[in-house]
Amino acid sequence: MSKWDVSQSAEWLHAEALVWDAHAGFESVPDADLSELRRWRDSGVDYLSINAGYDVRPWENTIAVLGAYRFWLAAHADDYLMAETVDDVRRAKAEGKMAVTFDIEGMNALNGDLGMVELYHRLGVRQMLFAYNLNNAAGGGCHDVDTGLTPFGRDVVGEMNRVGMLVDCSHSAYRTTLEAMEVSEVPVVFSHSNARALCDHERNIRDEQIKACAATGGVVGINGIGFFLAGNRPDVEAMLHNLQYMRDLVGAAHLGLGLDCSFHQEDLTELLTGHSDFWPSSQYAGDNPGFVAVESLPRLTELMLTGGFTEDEVRGILGGNFLRIAAQVWRPAIV
Ligand SMILES: [Zn+2]
Repeated sequence: MSKWDVSQSAEWLHAEALVWDAHAGFESVPDADLSELRRWRDSGVDYLSINAGYDVRPWENTIAVLGAYRFWLAAHADDYLMAETVDDVRRAKAEGKMAVTFDIEGMNALNGDLGMVELYHRLGVRQMLFAYNLNNAAGGGCHDVDTGLTPFGRDVVGEMNRVGMLVDCSHSAYRTTLEAMEVSEVPVVFSHSNARALCDHERNIRDEQIKACAATGGVVGINGIGFFLAGNRPDVEAMLHNLQYMRDLVGAAHLGLGLDCSFHQEDLTELLTGHSDFWPSSQYAGDNPGFVAVESLPRLTELMLTGGFTEDEVRGILGGNFLRIAAQVWRPAIV
């Protein structure tokens, strides 16, 4: 019996490959319990993008969260490494640590100021998306009227390209994402988005968006959120179906994982009902079906190996593909 209860070949590959999880949401509060990060390490994850804020909370909250998270990570430097570049991510794996950077969901965090992009980059943010479900000054959210990328949003894309931060199209509206992908001069990602063809939910993305992302050289990260998987089933089989579908559409080199696993199911349910504007009941009806736990990742590796993916493709999906584009886009902070 292997430590992850998977086949020997899956265990070996999962341990040896660089495993990249493009998004995890904690509570986005300064006193969040980051000791839970151990669950990612124990599940073979080598890099995690930790959410540091989203449009639901006031923009200042993002600064407070980044300060608190950086403080905690610095105090646990034996286990975690705050990465500036992909070389740091590789170094963390070689040293048996988990690399982390931060992401922001929604440009309310910029408070309308382009200069905030570089500040967040200096604080370790390496990925940011436009609008969290509802429209904001940068663009359209997926549950709102699709007004497209605004002039401010365009400027932000340019500034993100300049400082070296991944442009993320998850949670944003169709037209906004297509326009952002046209404007960006470097590959763009959907850090955690599933195929709408398999589950007709506004948070999921259409074939045209998947193709446009691949055309930029970018990567789509599949999430494990029940609402966004066929039949509201948060399981690795449903994630595998997304990977197979998108592989047939754009090729395995454009696929990755952004599990969006979090710990506080009760808080999430409270959020869903307490902020029905951000999560309209038409899209989030019924009981919250939950999500795929990070502990299931080795099982997903095994399923990919038996589900028609080559070993090289699995390596790419687990992390090689996101690493490839981060190597093209990320830059160390300008000093
Ligand atoms: Zn999200």
